[in-house]
Amino acid sequence: MFNNKMKKGIHPQYFQNVKVKCICWNEFTVDGATVEFIKVEACPACHPAYTGTKTKKVAKGRMEKILEKMKKMEQLQKAA
Ligand SMILES: [Zn+2]
Repeated sequence: MFNNKMKKGIHPQYFQNVKVKCICWNEFTVDGATVEFIKVEACPACHPAYTGTKTKKVAKGRMEKILEKMKKMEQLQKAA
């Protein structure tokens, strides 16, 4: 009896059909979450990574440019 109580305390409770609400007003459900309700700032309906390859490519190009700038900055700092 005592051991059963200990196990319940250690293992988190998993909920099924957990409601997830995004800031874009999209709602969907997930299984196996440890909370009964989840609020997210990005979901498959509005996140740039999910909403099309074009957006993804632009984001990747910007990131590469930033990385290039950072490398140049590092080189300048080493030279100075
Ligand atoms: Zn969303």
